[in-house]
Amino acid sequence: MKTVILCYHKIGFEPDEGRFLNCAPERLDSHARFFQQKKWQNFLPRDFQRGRTEGICFTFDDAYVSAVQNAPPILEKYGFFGAFYVVPSLVGMTSTWDGEIARPLAGWDELLAISGRGHELGNHTLSHLHLDALDLAGQRQELLDASNQLRERGIEAKSVAFPYGGFNTESMVAMETAEIRVGLALGKRPVGDELANCLPRIVVGYSDSVAKLLYKIYIRPKLP
Ligand SMILES: [Zn+2]
Repeated sequence: MKTVILCYHKIGFEPDEGRFLNCAPERLDSHARFFQQKKWQNFLPRDFQRGRTEGICFTFDDAYVSAVQNAPPILEKYGFFGAFYVVPSLVGMTSTWDGEIARPLAGWDELLAISGRGHELGNHTLSHLHLDALDLAGQRQELLDASNQLRERGIEAKSVAFPYGGFNTESMVAMETAEIRVGLALGKRPVGDELANCLPRIVVGYSDSVAKLLYKIYIRPKLP
C-alpha cells in the first residue's frame, strides 16, 4: 500500500461550480468507494507519522461551501474523514483568488459542525497569500494569526496547506513558531520519504475517474 494524499477544492455540480478546481459529488463518491473496497486505511494529516502512515488521505483546500456541505456525508458513508483547509480572514465570505468565479466559503458554524463529527480543520494561512513571496516575519504572521483565529473557535490546527503549494525553507521555520508539524504541498505523486512538513499531494480534477486517479498514483510518477 502507498501513502496518498489527495487534494480537492470544490465538490459541486457542474452547473453551479463549473469544472475548474471542482470535482462532482458522485466522482468523490466513486473515489471513496474504491479505496474502501480495496481496504485502504484512511488517515488525516494531523495523524501523519513519517514512515508509518500508509493509506489514503482526503484534503479539501479553501473550505468552499460546496466541499464542506457535500464531502463529509460522502466520506462518512465509507467510514472516512477529510481535512478542510480554512482561510480564517475569509470564513463565511467568498474566495478572493478565483477572479470572476469567486465562490462562497463555509461559515464558522458549518466548519465547527464537521469538526465535531471528526473531520480535521487545518490552517490555510490568514489571507491566502503566496507564502514563498513573504519574508520570515510575514510568513510567521500569516500562520500564527490563522492558528490563533482557529484557536479562538476551539480548533487546534495541526497541519497547514500552503496556498498555491508555495513554500520555502523559511516556511518551515514559521511552521515551528506556529507549532504546526505537518505541511501539505503539491507534488503529483504519492508520499515518499519527504519530511512531514512538506508532503506532496495529488490534485484531483473534474475529469478524474478512478482509472485516471490510479494513473496519477501509479503511472505518472514513474514517467520521465
Ligand atoms: Zn487555496
